[in-house]
Amino acid sequence: MTTLCPGLGGPIIDYISNPPANLPKTRKIVVLGSTGSIGRSVLDIARQKKSALQIIGLAGGRNMREMSKQAEEFKPGHIAMQSAEIANELAARLSWKLQIGSGQRAYAEMAAMPEADMVVSAQSGGMGLCATLAGVLAGKTVCLANKESLVLAGPLVREICATSHASILPIDSEHNAIFQCLAGRGQNIKKIIITASGGPFYKKKMEDLAKITPKDALAHPTWKMGQKISIDSSTMMNKALELIEAVQLFGVDKERIEILIQPQSIVHSMVEFVDGSILAQLGMPDMRLPIAFCLLWPNAEPHDIGALDLAKVGRLEFARPDAKVFPALSLGRQALRAPESEGLPSACVILNAANEICVELFLDGRISWTEIAMYVRKAMEELGGVKLESAKLPAVLPTTPQDIAALALEMGKPIMELDHQVRNFVLKAATQQALGK
Ligand code: MG
Repeated sequence: MTTLCPGLGGPIIDYISNPPANLPKTRKIVVLGSTGSIGRSVLDIARQKKSALQIIGLAGGRNMREMSKQAEEFKPGHIAMQSAEIANELAARLSWKLQIGSGQRAYAEMAAMPEADMVVSAQSGGMGLCATLAGVLAGKTVCLANKESLVLAGPLVREICATSHASILPIDSEHNAIFQCLAGRGQNIKKIIITASGGPFYKKKMEDLAKITPKDALAHPTWKMGQKISIDSSTMMNKALELIEAVQLFGVDKERIEILIQPQSIVHSMVEFVDGSILAQLGMPDMRLPIAFCLLWPNAEPHDIGALDLAKVGRLEFARPDAKVFPALSLGRQALRAPESEGLPSACVILNAANEICVELFLDGRISWTEIAMYVRKAMEELGGVKLESAKLPAVLPTTPQDIAALALEMGKPIMELDHQVRNFVLKAATQQALGK
C-alpha cells in the first residue's frame, strides 16, 4: 500500500506527508467550501458513491440558497457559514433543527471533528488556511484543493504532518497528476512538468493586453471554474501559485519544475525521469476526476464523468509560455527565491495577498489586467523581507476541536496579519494611482 505514495526514500521527492493510513471503507467527510465550484463537484461524487462517502459537515460562505439545498439533500450534522447573521437565517430555513456555526473558528472546529475521516479543504483563497491547519493538526486525511494553504504555510503544514500523522492528498489537477505519475517512483526524478492551458490570452501580443475586460478574462477556454481562479488562469498567476504549491508538496527544488502550455488541458502534468522517460497523466478537464481520486484513494472506481476520446481530441500541443505576456510566472519564482526569514515564506504570502486584492480590484473595474502583476511586483518590492514567525508547535498536540481550532487560528495569525497589511498597501497604492489619473 505504501508504495502507492511518492516520497518513500527517493533522493529528490520528499513528499509533504505519509500516505493515509486506516481509512475506513465508508468515509465520513467534512467539506469546507461546499457551495463553491470544487465543493459542488465533491458533492456530485458523494452523490454517486453513497456507500463509500458520507457527508457529515458542510461549510460555506454566503450562498444561503445553495447551502440550504445541499443541507436538505445530505443532512449533515454540522454546518457553518461566514457570519452569524447568515447562519441564523439559514437555520430558520431548514426543515429540521440544527445549530449552525459561523466564521473562521467554526470552520476550523469542523475540520477537527473527531468523527471526520477526511476533510476537503476547498475554500477560495488565503481564508482557507486556518481550517486546513486545524484538519492537519487533528491528524486528518486532508484532500487539498486550497492551494493557498501550501503557498502561505507549506513548511508549517509539513512540520505539523510529521507530528500529527495527518496526510495530504492533492485535488489541484496538476498536483494530482504529478502524484499519480510518481506512484511508487519517488526516485530518479529529473524534473516535474506542470502543464497550463494558457488561459484565454495564450498567443496574445503585448499590445493586445491593455484593453482586456473582466468578461474577456473570465472566459476560460477549457475549464469551468470560480471567478478568482479564472482570473488567475488568465494572468497565469494560478501557475505561479501552483509552482509554489508543488515545491512545498513534493519537496522539490523550483529549478526542477518546468511550466509548459498544453492548450487542450488533456495532459494534466508530467514527470521526467533521469533516463529520459516521461510519464504523463491524461484525462478530461473535469475537476471531479482528481476529486474522486482523492476521496476514494487508493481505489479507482467507475463513475459517470465520461471517458476521454483521444481520437476526438486529435492532437496534443505543447509550448513554452511567453514571459513578457505573463510576468506572474517570474514573480512566482522570485517569491521562492527571496531570502527566507525564519519559518515561513513571507514573500509567498505577499505575492498571494497582493494578487487576491488585485483580482478583486480588477473585477470591480478599478485596475486594468496588466496592473495586476504590476501591483503584485510593487508589493513584493516594498514589503519584502519582513520577518514572519508562526507560533511554535507544542510538543503535545491538543485533542478537542475547540483547542485545535484555537491553536490553528493562533498559528495562522501572523500570516493573516501580513495578508491584511499587504491588502491595505495595494488598496492605498491603487487609490492614489486612480486619483492621480
Ligand atoms: Mg490547478
